[in-house]
Amino acid sequence: MDFSLTDDQKQIKEMVREFAESEIKPHVMEWDEAQTFPLDTVKKLGELGMLGAIFPEQYGGAGLSYVDYVNIIEELAVVDSGVALTVAAHNSLCSGHIYLAGNDEQKKQWMPKLTTGEWIGAWGLTEPASGSDASGLRTTAVRDGDDWVLNGTKNFITNATYADISVVLAITDRDDKKHGITAFAVEMERPGIRPGKKENKLGMRASDTAELVLEDCRVPSANVLGEIGYGFIDAMKVLDGGRISIGALSVGIARGAFEAARDYAKQRQAFGRPIADFQAIQFMLATWPRRSTPRACSATAPPRSKTPASASRRHPRWPSSTPRRWPCAPPSAACRSSAATASSRTSPRRSTTAT
Ligand SMILES: Cc1cc2nc3c(=O)[nH]c(=O)nc-3n(C[C@H](O)[C@H](O)[C@H](O)COP(=O)(O)OP(=O)(O)OC[C@H]3O[C@@H](n4cnc5c(N)ncnc54)[C@H](O)[C@@H]3O)c2cc1C
Repeated sequence: MDFSLTDDQKQIKEMVREFAESEIKPHVMEWDEAQTFPLDTVKKLGELGMLGAIFPEQYGGAGLSYVDYVNIIEELAVVDSGVALTVAAHNSLCSGHIYLAGNDEQKKQWMPKLTTGEWIGAWGLTEPASGSDASGLRTTAVRDGDDWVLNGTKNFITNATYADISVVLAITDRDDKKHGITAFAVEMERPGIRPGKKENKLGMRASDTAELVLEDCRVPSANVLGEIGYGFIDAMKVLDGGRISIGALSVGIARGAFEAARDYAKQRQAFGRPIADFQAIQFMLATWPRRSTPRACSATAPPRSKTPASASRRHPRWPSSTPRRWPCAPPSAACRSSAATASSRTSPRRSTTAT
């Protein structure tokens, strides 16, 4: 199988790289040291369509393929894996679950806010006592008339502190081992849901990882995502795509480390020459791990009807002549550099007539 990128894919990759170099790179150390969540930059990523990369135009998305999406995550991760994680969790997990399992009404209500970055999304599956063994969660949702009342604590939730909406997985039938978990979309302004303790991580510190606390949080039945009892099954499908984006994120981290090591080796002098001239250093750089995400994209995201990856495939790829939610398409050199400085001018999202 040929994994080489098309010209369109290369152009999108290049645009993201330029954005990351100009808008993110100058702040990486500051954000990392202070654990700053770069809200303004995340909003700019929304304006550029990166917070709705894989979703169709109908819902305000950029309608890109999953390959384009993993390229975006990889390029962001080369510069700052925390920003990449923010984008990946927002797209693949929160928006991905609503897009996969939500009904038309729910998608119309929430997807455009998420795809444009007006809202930030979180996705709450993990709990203090259930990580790899995700189905062992303890958060409950008890029916009360036409509402559900949610109680429990999620942890390690990306974007929890800054989210406007969170998908929450909760037990609705303790006796049903297979179909006892349901997904709810919970707007963070609802009484009874709040972010809890923020994690002090060793890396990716520009990404927000925190608890999500639910205390008698009342949610209407209209916020149930998918069928009652099918939340965990849908969550596993959501993770099909989510894991690929985390693979791309890891490739980006490795590439960022490689590029830093290569540049240092060219600049660092020892014994009267750059250390890059020494064969031992050359071997280390030459045998750096190779990329595998494109394979994962093809191999682990088969066109099953309900995965986000296959969902994105069902929509035709945008020909380069089609306007889309990028500053222009295909991006000319001038346009690429303007994308990189998007912050200093009118939102490209608003300035295009793509949708
Ligand atoms: C930065 C970050 C962001 C995250 N974002 C989110 C998010 O947005 N939403 C969300 O719901 N969750 C999120 N998570 C949680 C993540 O999904 C969990 O960390 C993951 O599922 C692992 O769970 P755990 O950390 O409890 O590890 P554990 O399940 O306790 O595992 C500990 C170790 O035991 C190993 N292990 C476990 N079971 C087995 C087994 N059967 N056989 C052999 N080894 C085993 C694991 O591989 C691991 O090495 C995030 C985590 C991190 C670190």
